[in-house]
Amino acid sequence: MIRIRHLSKSFGHNHVLKGIDFDVFPSEVVVVIGPSGSGKSTLLRCCNGLEIAQAGTIDICGERLLDEGDMMPEQKLNRLRTQVGMVFQSFNLFPHLSVLDNVTVGPRTLSGLSTDQAQSRAMLLLDKVGLSDKVHAMPASLSGGQKQRVAIARALAMEPRVMLFDEPTSALDPELVGEVLNVMKLLAQEGMTMMVVTHEMGFAREVADRVAVMDQGNIIEIDTPGVIFSHPKEPRTREFLHAVLNPSANTFTPSHSIQSITGSRP
Ligand code: ADP
Ligand code: MG
Repeated sequence: MIRIRHLSKSFGHNHVLKGIDFDVFPSEVVVVIGPSGSGKSTLLRCCNGLEIAQAGTIDICGERLLDEGDMMPEQKLNRLRTQVGMVFQSFNLFPHLSVLDNVTVGPRTLSGLSTDQAQSRAMLLLDKVGLSDKVHAMPASLSGGQKQRVAIARALAMEPRVMLFDEPTSALDPELVGEVLNVMKLLAQEGMTMMVVTHEMGFAREVADRVAVMDQGNIIEIDTPGVIFSHPKEPRTREFLHAVLNPSANTFTPSHSIQSITGSRP
């Protein structure tokens, strides 16, 4: 479904992706983990043409998106993007449109569906993500977890063949994370091909077919969750997992939290 070879991307002098080779097979769920700044978002954004890498190839659903730095023509790119759904940390809903309109606008304007067709599709999807009762709500009245579920329904309304998730639960209050992960798990069980950047290690362990570990622009290790979480080969993987799974063991303590512990701040 996704085939990446020798992908190399720089922002100015900052070499962000250093020759990535990566595959996602049909119905596979690949979770991408790694420290902040390692290139996870950039890799994901390259997969739907939001970023252009200077070298390497990307094939998506059998079509060549990137050929040694050359992007496919705009018209083809727009068509391909309808097959690659993307969900961002920050939801990116249209604030002036109701939940229903957020989910129908793509199919109406890009896929040529009638309003009736788009609405019946949207109702099914909103039911699936547990938001049948919020059809006429405006985004501002929703919780973060509800907004993210609308964003997932909106992406699914284009009937994508692959879904890309970039830290979909990182902006959520902890008690709302589960409702979004449950929807993603349901999608995985239905056979959706998914590439998920997340720090939710429980999700990775339970739902991922493979876990890719990124560090400084490279995929340093990719294997089943069993191997990555129990017997990682790379010392950097061990360090990263240790830091994520034992946040209180981190040596870095922000000064404001010391102040709040000692009571010098409200
Ligand atoms: P991650 O998602 O793993 O935290 P990113 O892919 O966002 O990492 O970023 C990787 C590196 O690329 C970082 O050094 C970041 O500052 C840089 N970077 C990301 N996007 C841009 C951009 N649009 N312009 C310049 N530098 C960027
Ligand atoms: Mg990121």
